[in-house]
Amino acid sequence: MASFILATANPDKVLEIREILSSLDVTLLERPTDVADVIEDGETLEDNALLKARALVAATGVAAIADDTGLFVDALDGQPGVYSARYAGESATYEDNVIKLIDALKDVAPALRTARFRTVAAVAYPDDSWFVVDGELHGTIATAPCGTNGFGYDPIFIPDDTRGRTLAELTPQQKHALSHRGNAFRALFEALAQR
Ligand code: IMP
Repeated sequence: MASFILATANPDKVLEIREILSSLDVTLLERPTDVADVIEDGETLEDNALLKARALVAATGVAAIADDTGLFVDALDGQPGVYSARYAGESATYEDNVIKLIDALKDVAPALRTARFRTVAAVAYPDDSWFVVDGELHGTIATAPCGTNGFGYDPIFIPDDTRGRTLAELTPQQKHALSHRGNAFRALFEALAQR
């Protein structure tokens, strides 16, 4: 059975990744608490995911998996994108970011509120080899939050295929079956199976 250290310390993301990978023959180890956070100063999701995975390999000597996600809103020229976590400021909460995004789109017509989530997952090994995969989810941004499941921008993201329900109105299993993170991690394990 393959073992990897998971770079993220975000409990919402750890839970989702464990749920998505629960049926696969892989052991996910928690990130040691004494390993410092990496400054995510890359210009792309790929840069940041790789930065995190390679830093963890350097600190532990064990193969690592890292992911980075952004919400790309067409009417805002792709913002918040790689800055999705700190859209409303360095210490912004999920709610702060949601409020800022609703406000930024307040004059945008329903048909122009299109957006996509994109997750990049990176695997890095102690021999310096690595690879990345990605997954996307297309939808629109709601005018007000709806639903209590999930995290982040889930209450205002309406996937194209859920008949008007936001991600926060889906069960975790329904979200993983269509989500950017689900798609990225399914691609990751298909790539691992080929190696
Ligand atoms: P990260 O860089 O992968 O931690 O993601 C950046 C930010 O995107 C997070 O702080 C969340 O606000 C948002 N985000 C990431 N994944 C999701 C998701 O699955 N649903 C909603 N928001 C998300």
